[in-house]
Amino acid sequence: MHLDFLQSHAWQVSLGRFVVLLAVSLAVGWWFGAPLYAALIALSGYSVWSLVSLYQMQSWLRSRQRRPPPEDRGVWSDISAHMYTKLHAERSRKRRLVNLLRAFREGAAALPDGVVVLTRGRSVVWFNEAAARLLGLAAPRDRGAHIDGFLPLPVRSWLTEDPAQEPLREVASNLDEAIRLSFRLIPYSRDHLLLVVRDVTPLARLEQVRRDFVANVSHELRTPLTVLHGYLEMLEPEVMPQLAPVLADLRGQSRRMTQIVEDLLTLSRLEAQQQINDAERVSIRALLSTLRREAEGLSQGRHRVDIVQSCDSDLRGSTDYLHSAFSNLVSNAVRYTAEGGRIELSWQATANGGARFAVADTGYGIPAEHLPRITERFYRVSTSRSRESGGTGLGLSIVKHVLQLHQARLEIQSEVGVGSTFSCVFARERLLAPEVLMDETHAH
Ligand code: ADP
Repeated sequence: MHLDFLQSHAWQVSLGRFVVLLAVSLAVGWWFGAPLYAALIALSGYSVWSLVSLYQMQSWLRSRQRRPPPEDRGVWSDISAHMYTKLHAERSRKRRLVNLLRAFREGAAALPDGVVVLTRGRSVVWFNEAAARLLGLAAPRDRGAHIDGFLPLPVRSWLTEDPAQEPLREVASNLDEAIRLSFRLIPYSRDHLLLVVRDVTPLARLEQVRRDFVANVSHELRTPLTVLHGYLEMLEPEVMPQLAPVLADLRGQSRRMTQIVEDLLTLSRLEAQQQINDAERVSIRALLSTLRREAEGLSQGRHRVDIVQSCDSDLRGSTDYLHSAFSNLVSNAVRYTAEGGRIELSWQATANGGARFAVADTGYGIPAEHLPRITERFYRVSTSRSRESGGTGLGLSIVKHVLQLHQARLEIQSEVGVGSTFSCVFARERLLAPEVLMDETHAH
């Protein structure tokens, strides 16, 4: 509700005083025969008093309003009182906010994970104790410093990419090789980023124990299996015809076990490897024709195999590993496609300057709910179909690891009853311009 200012007590007091002063001065002046002079003197006095009140209010405001405002019950003091209550409320709100902020900061400081607040330009705004310990930051020296100097090399290049990217796992710390850190970047406001650093050394150690265990078991199984396999191969079914089906089954199973052990050993080797020899040129043309031959060998004429190559670039990486990954995809396509189906191997450029190797089939397809887990070890959509076709359930894990070593990714599109496409997408940095052959140059 809007109140007329005359209804306000302060205005009534101030105006009342003014009117009474004017009336009294006029009456007194009239008595002495000079009412106007008297009124003039009274008005001057009133102005001086107003100025004094203004001065008092100003000095009260300047005194940071710790004491209550000057009190004369008029409009001036009403204004001051108004400001006083407003400022008081503001001050307690501020105090509450500061307390809240302090609680948050103390909480963040006590977190076991390192937290660094960065500007978009990657300079350090704030960090907690764990971040100081894990990255070697020191307060207040490093506030405002560029974060790059405190990060292991792989993290620097990772940081310059898309901020909403995947976390970076198990990077050796700058300060101590034995410490493994994982990094995560969270953009949380328009100009700030949160870098979360976690010490994953115990986890990495456990993971190493698991890897060693699998590698050792596989290794230990290899010799007895070879012996068993050797004896089984030596037994002639003709000698004991009644045992011929059993013998065939035994041979099949021992072959399968050997394959599983070999695949597990390959996986262990891949996992243990942090990097691959980058210098090698992988000739895609040669690889494609080898793969085609393999596909045709596996298919035994039951499928049509085509090659589509629209990109001339070669790859930089490990020929052996890439061959093993691609041939796993090809073998899957043959094994999971019914007779009469078509398999297409392609090598094509991608929109952002990279290239993709794809194996497309017109096979059984994979139901969508299985896709997220399909690259896990021993994960199969249909165990019986995988076993029948001689699968170990490790093929796609091997593919994933090989691609990781080449900083490439696996994309899977599949529709049940229509077919599947497995694509390996390589970045531009992995490509090599086609080699100019000597005899070709001579020919021109
Ligand atoms: P496996 O040795 O069993 O083939 P993989 O790791 O190679 O193991 O594949 C995992 C599972 O993914 C397979 O068991 C199969 O169910 C499914 N799969 C892989 N490739 C294809 C494909 N081209 N078409 C249909 N299903 C596939």
